[in-house]
Formats: sequence, C-alpha cells, structure tokens
Amino acid sequence: MPQRTTKQPSETATDDRSVSAPQGGADTEGPSIVESLDPRTGELLASYPVAGETEVARVVERARGAAQWWYDIGFDGRKGWLQSWKKAIAADAQSLAAVISAETGKPADDALLEVMLTVEHLDWASKKAGKVLGRRKVSAGLVSANQEATVRYQPLGVVGVIGPWNYPLYTPMGSISYALAAGNAVVFKPSELTPGVAAWIVGKWNDLVPNQPVLQVVTGFGATGTALCRSGVDKIAFTGSTPTAKKVMATCAETLTPIVAECGGKDAMLVDADADLEEASTFAVFGAMGNAGQTCVGVERIYVADKVFDTFVQKVTEKAKRLRLGGGAHDSYGPMTLGRQSEVVTEQVADALAKGATAVLGGPESVRAPYVEPVILADVPEDSIAVTEETFGPTVVINRMADLDDGVAKANASGYGLGASVFTRNRGRAVAAAERLRSGVVTINSVLGFAGVPALPFGGVGESGFGRIHGADGLREFSRVKSVTRQKYKAPLNLLTMERKPRDMKIAAWMLRARHGRK
Ligand code: NDP
Repeated sequence: MPQRTTKQPSETATDDRSVSAPQGGADTEGPSIVESLDPRTGELLASYPVAGETEVARVVERARGAAQWWYDIGFDGRKGWLQSWKKAIAADAQSLAAVISAETGKPADDALLEVMLTVEHLDWASKKAGKVLGRRKVSAGLVSANQEATVRYQPLGVVGVIGPWNYPLYTPMGSISYALAAGNAVVFKPSELTPGVAAWIVGKWNDLVPNQPVLQVVTGFGATGTALCRSGVDKIAFTGSTPTAKKVMATCAETLTPIVAECGGKDAMLVDADADLEEASTFAVFGAMGNAGQTCVGVERIYVADKVFDTFVQKVTEKAKRLRLGGGAHDSYGPMTLGRQSEVVTEQVADALAKGATAVLGGPESVRAPYVEPVILADVPEDSIAVTEETFGPTVVINRMADLDDGVAKANASGYGLGASVFTRNRGRAVAAAERLRSGVVTINSVLGFAGVPALPFGGVGESGFGRIHGADGLREFSRVKSVTRQKYKAPLNLLTMERKPRDMKIAAWMLRARHGRK
C-alpha cells in the first residue's frame, strides 16, 4: 500500500477552485503539483498547484488591497463577516471533518471535535476583538493631567500563516481567526499533507465574499513557505517543528519580518501519590495516544510518585490495551499521518530499551506502518532520546518521581516548554507546581483542558517557541499598538517649552522630591 514516508510529491494534476492557480506555472525548482493522499489507503485525494515566488508575491499583493477594505469596515463589519463564515463552517461541519479525516487519517469523531473547537475560537475572536483592541483611555497621571491618553491596536496589514498537518484546521485557525478578527488579511500556506483542509475553509470564505480576497491559500512545499516569508508580509505566524521554525526565523530576519513561533513539545504529566489514579490514567492514555500521539501538547513523559508507580502503570497499560486502531469513524486513533514518524518511534523505543528501559506494553514490533500500536516504556533513563526529543507517536515514557518538587525539576529539564499537567487532590500543591513548571500552559487534573478555552493565550517557551495565539494576547499578537495623547488644556506648569521659567523648574524639582524622593 502506498503511503507518505517523506514529504515528497509525484506528478498528477487536477485543480481546486479555492486555491490560486499559478500564473505561468510555479517559478521554483521542483514539482509543480502537490498531491494530497489518504494515509490510510494511499489513495490520491486531489492535487494542488505549487505556488512559487511570483505567485506568492501576486497573492500577497491582492491581499494588500483586501486588507484596506477589511480595515475600513471596522470591528462591527468584520464581526458580521466572521460570524457568517463561522455559521457556514458549523453548518457544514461534517463535510469539513471528512476532509480532515481523509487527509490525516484521524477518526471522523476526532475530526469533528477539531471543527468544534475551531469554531469556538473563531466565535470568541470575532466577538471580542473590538473590546480588546479598540480605543480605550488610560490614566494620564498627575504630572500629565492636562493630557487625554488613549491606546488602541491597529492591524499589521497582511499576515502569512504557515501551518502543520497534525491538526490542520484547529492549529492554523488559531492564528487565522485571531489575525482576521484583528483586521488583517491572511495568506495561508498549509502543510503539503493537508492542502484540502485549507482549500475547504478558504472556499467557504470565497463563497461569502468572492470579491475581497481577505483570506487566500497558497499551496506547495517548504519553498512556498520560504517565498511567503520573503514576500513582504507584515508578520509570519508559524506552527510546526522547532528545526523548521529556526529556518523560518532566519529567512524572516532577511527582511526583519516579525514572527510568532508555535513549535514542538515534550509535555510532562506529574502524578502525585494522592492523585485520583483512575482519572489520571484515563487522561494519560488520551493525552499520549490520542491522534496517534501526533499532538504538540500530547503527553510524552509521565512522572509518577514512587508509592503509586506500579498501580498507575498497571492502570495505564490496561486502558491502552483496550484501544482500537483503524481508519473507522469511532476507532481510538488512526495511522501515522506522515509515515516517517513511525521510524522516529522505532528509533526512540530501541534507544530506550538499549539503555535499560522496560517495555511494559508493546515494543519495536508495535510499529506496523502506517499504524503504530501503543507503546508504554517505564524507568527510561533521562538521557534517552525518548525522554529528550519529541516523539509525535502513540508512545509514552513513565518514570518515577520522589515528590512533586522532583517531578517539576525533571519536567523542567527539557529544552521544550509547551504544556504540562499535574494530578493531585491537593489544590495548593497543584497550583504551586503549575507556577514552577517551565511551560506556556498547565492543566490541573486533566489534559488539554485549555484547548477549548478561547480566552486563554497559548504558546510555549524555549524550544517550543515564542509569542501567543488565542485569547486577548492572541489578538494583540496580530496588531500594533498605537498610543495617542491629546492636550485638553494648557498645563499650569508648562515644562515642554523652550520658554519655561526658572520658577516652573523650581516647582518641578519640588514635586519630584515630594512625590518620589521622600524617605
Ligand atoms: P514542519 O516543521 O515540517 O512544517 C510546518 C510548516 O512549515 C509546513 O507548512 C511546512 O511545509 C512549512 N515549511 C517547511 N520548511 C519550510 C521553510 N524552509 N520555510 C517556510 N516554511 C517551511 O512541521 P509538521 O508539519 O511536520 O508539523 C509537526 C510539528 O508541528 C511538530 O513538531 C509539532 O509539535 C508542531 N506543532 C506545534 C503546535 C503548537 O501549537 N505549538 C501545534 C501543532 C503542531 P511542508 O509541509 O510543505 O513541508
């Protein structure tokens, strides 16, 4: 059965109306077509044009024109269009979920959940943008009491969004929804594995607003992403692996184009001795194995208090054994979307076992590409690549911790810092651990709890990237701040003039001492 082992296309051509077709062909070297395949069967789903530099530049130019219209209609106008788009997506959710499922291989139920979460974010961003970004007064302070001070957030112009394949809707829409709501036009470069999802959502936009290319898609490979970085867009919102983020940042440095980088993770779960082990083990299996482990905030390392280690491992193992693999709507998880991820699993499991880890469930034989059965590794040396590097597969490492302090130290020893979770019945200890975990998000007594909370900013630290999507910070990420003061009346003490009097300076010096210099 053919499968995607590398991100390489062959040559078959069809087209899709939602994707801008290159004028005069792709102007980068390499194939002119990107094929979308079903990873479950290898079936060709559709082919899309590869946009080269000239085409990307043309699309960004069109976006500039639309950006002006989008800016001019204001927050209320944008909210109206975004709400209509949201309704169109929600009303046809099953068809979108089918495209997600076909391109990634994930079960239809998971794909529908992805649509549901995406719509919640789009709804929030469109409704809150005016309040978060609109003009508001700030206190001018005593010394400048004669000034009215206001701050507002203006759109950047055109934002380039580069997305991954694992959550091909939810993840890029975390940037797209917020960038649009903030008043920007968007050019979206999806992963070469999931161009159909991008074409679907942009198609829905075009159905509503055919004459205003506020949202466009450019399909292709890495070179198309590079062209977008060089196209003069006002910001790049990148989601993908850490190595690619470094390349994107280097390219963007050429033109001083700012970026927000949402990269990989190696999330830790801490399970204290007093935790509800039944609940924690259920969440552990979901967090580690859901979407075949291809989740940036998936649970990859679990640190369990020594006292409950064996019971916890037993519970996780029992639950993982019950998982059903396959491409059906209600299966637990599907195949590896990108075939070469199976090789990463094989390599990490082999390394862990060679270093003395125990395979509690599965092992090297669990990799039956394109499917990978659940693998649970226990007592894995902390210098194994299964502990230090992102896996992106349905495997999990379970190691021991002396207590939560020890767990936090081990969790923080990673260069990544995206998400983390803490399980304990003691609220105070949980909150204290959450404070000390070096990560952008933490969930207490659940996993992925933040994904459906649009008001919460999302992003990582260290190798997991920088900047924030979602929430008020996510709206501000795609804006530039504008501060304005307006003189309401002439200041009694006029210091901002060449004609100030010695008396004025005397009073100013007295005020400085009186306000700030008293012991
Ligand atoms: P990649 O880094 O391989 O690709 C991400 C995107 O970048 C793709 O659209 C890719 O295009 C494009 N790209 C590749 N090379 C370049 C380049 N030189 N210049 C510009 N763009 C380029 O990531 P994956 O698609 O494999 O996604 C998986 C990764 O994403 C994991 O590490 C995962 O943790 C991370 N991720 C992070 C999330 C977060 O929010 N922090 C959320 C989801 C995933 P093409 O596909 O055509 O090569």
